[in-house]
Amino acid sequence: MEFSAVIVAAGASTRAGPGLAKPWRDLVGRPVIAWSIEALAGAGATRIVVVTTADRREDAAALLAGLPSPQVVIGGASRADSVQAGLAALDAGDDTPVLIHDAARPFVPRACIEALLAALGDHDGAIPGLPLADTLKRASPLIEETVPREGLWRVQTPQAFRLGRLRAAYAALSPGTEPTDDASVVEADGGRVVVTPGDPMLMKLTYPEDFAMAERLAGAARITRIGQGVDAHRWGPGDAVWLCGVRIDHDQTLIGHSDADAGLHALTDAILGAIGAGDIGEHFPPSDPQWKGAASDRFLLRAVEILTNRGGRLLNADVTLVCERPKIRPHRDAMRARLAELLGLPLDRISVKATTTEGMGFTGRQEGLLAQAVVAVETPA
Ligand code: MG
Repeated sequence: MEFSAVIVAAGASTRAGPGLAKPWRDLVGRPVIAWSIEALAGAGATRIVVVTTADRREDAAALLAGLPSPQVVIGGASRADSVQAGLAALDAGDDTPVLIHDAARPFVPRACIEALLAALGDHDGAIPGLPLADTLKRASPLIEETVPREGLWRVQTPQAFRLGRLRAAYAALSPGTEPTDDASVVEADGGRVVVTPGDPMLMKLTYPEDFAMAERLAGAARITRIGQGVDAHRWGPGDAVWLCGVRIDHDQTLIGHSDADAGLHALTDAILGAIGAGDIGEHFPPSDPQWKGAASDRFLLRAVEILTNRGGRLLNADVTLVCERPKIRPHRDAMRARLAELLGLPLDRISVKATTTEGMGFTGRQEGLLAQAVVAVETPA
């Protein structure tokens, strides 16, 4: 489902101790806010607005670079002002689902986003929450009473609403009230907001000691996925063949609509496969004349771009070419070097191997060449 996101990073972070404001502190090599931007983009947000302080405008723009419809807005004096500034900047229809997220919650599991969007169908809003497990006391610090925890939830962000409904609720907000979340604004306006399953990963960085916990959780915030791709092309008359981005003089060529580089096609499919993003035929239909004779590195780079837009990165690639001729070994290092260059990876993350089928099958009869590729990628969980 298409959705927009507003990430609020304009607060003063007074409880987090001295130093940089929370969204801009380092969390395992990246600013805290970078994690949630990546997760929301990776889950398919088509517009992301970051609301921050004026001195962070450039930093926020740099983190959003390359994403669809990025916007940086300067926040107001209160959280409500900042959210409204973000909502005002969103160029989307009233029915567009919008997720409002606090930048201090770096880890946003995709399952939480999907549950929120699904719940919006029947409600004015949906927010992630966890039932309370601990016993609750009212104390100062002498205990005054034990508070029954039944029906109590601790709620998190992102919180999901339809853009028009949330704007209307904020417009109706009584002056001087300082809501601590967006659901309470919609509740006050008579809206029906439902709690969907939250996740401990959605922890909020509030106190200095929370950063140590977040560093331990960071490892679980990204997952490794495997993708594989297979391609075959038929041999025909020619004087050279393209394989893994390298031109090899040969007494035949591979026939295809593009340059028929089966190695790059298999690799492209493997990357798309790792992130469930369809296949090469869907992204570059043979029926489209713009791909006629195209250099296949364009297909590969597009697949990498789709991966990057989802917050992912390629970890390694292993390509196997199956043919009797030409001999691949003399060209293997050039192929690995070319792939490493195209993918921006060190050489030891790239493998090109070759085998024959000892005269058996279509590759053995030299009717065509078969390529197979396997990749590992890392993406937000
Ligand atoms: Mg092909």
